[in-house]
Amino acid sequence: MNDIMPVDGQFQMMILPYATLGDAISQQTLAFHHGKHLKTYVDNLNKALPGSGFEGLGLREVVRKAQGGLFNNAGQVLNHTMYFEQFSATPRPMGEKLRTLIERDFGSVEAFKTEFQQKGASLFGSGWVWLSADNSGKLVITQQRNAENPVTDGLQPLLTFDVWEHAYYLDYQNRRADYLAALWQVVDWPVVEGRL
Ligand code: MN
Repeated sequence: MNDIMPVDGQFQMMILPYATLGDAISQQTLAFHHGKHLKTYVDNLNKALPGSGFEGLGLREVVRKAQGGLFNNAGQVLNHTMYFEQFSATPRPMGEKLRTLIERDFGSVEAFKTEFQQKGASLFGSGWVWLSADNSGKLVITQQRNAENPVTDGLQPLLTFDVWEHAYYLDYQNRRADYLAALWQVVDWPVVEGRL
């Protein structure tokens, strides 16, 4: 998968590929989450890059190698970019290639979704639940805290649900499990499969 490269030394804000996501996530949440939270991470990443030794590297390389504030902001830019890009107001179904792998490694798509939601719901504090492929091609679900991304552990990240409260609180308040269950309605599966 191609890395995200800076332009003239600056990482760019990703453009949301949709205006709304129906009932799953409100426009108000999208406006704050993308326009305020992600914007702050992008701005802080770009401020921290000069003199860091990481200038000119792709975003995944920065996440793999950086520490501290630079890691946190780079991780959050990568995580949010993958999160927002995998949804659609007109989502397309899962293809055979990914379905076959999910059935091989989790038994069924429903069993996979149940485990993914459970791991998202039970992650203590702020973070992300991820589906990734390991270097043998096996699919795994991991809980990552704060700004962590599975690339740091040598995994290939495919799908992620943000479980920071800012991702759902306006719409679901404390009902994180309901938010996680609703997100399946808007996953655009060919985008996820394209990350294999
Ligand atoms: Mn977020």
